[in-house]
Amino acid sequence: MQDCLFCQIIKGKLPGKFVYRDTKIVAFYDINPKAPVHVLVLPVKHIKSLQDIKGEDGELMGRLLLAVNKIAKKLGIAQDGYKVIVNNGQASGQLVFHLHVHLLGGWKQSVHWEV
Ligand code: AMP
Ligand code: ZN
Repeated sequence: MQDCLFCQIIKGKLPGKFVYRDTKIVAFYDINPKAPVHVLVLPVKHIKSLQDIKGEDGELMGRLLLAVNKIAKKLGIAQDGYKVIVNNGQASGQLVFHLHVHLLGGWKQSVHWEV
């Protein structure tokens, strides 16, 4: 997907501050953080949204959540707690149509639905 922002970042054609990378999953810091720690975790495979996953993507989706688990631990936000948000479609506010999980955490006090 040549015109996809996140595909460009994954390929190194645009800058990204990576915190995780394996053959199937990558994660980099959100450029406009909505929490003290805000990372985007995504499959290397270009999938537009959760509504576009197929049966064959089941294992990949498992790997995506396992990566969230590892990254939360690595960034030191697992114990206090974090949010996982996936925007799907225009009405949800999805701006980049390459499936991604927002991993948000690092607050000093408990937050409810501010993000
Ligand atoms: P969404 O609204 O769920 O599609 O989220 C897109 C996210 O991508 C937003 O939180 C943006 O701040 C973030 N974003 C946009 N451009 C970049 C970029 N070049 N590097 C990192 N994050 C980005
Ligand atoms: Zn893409």
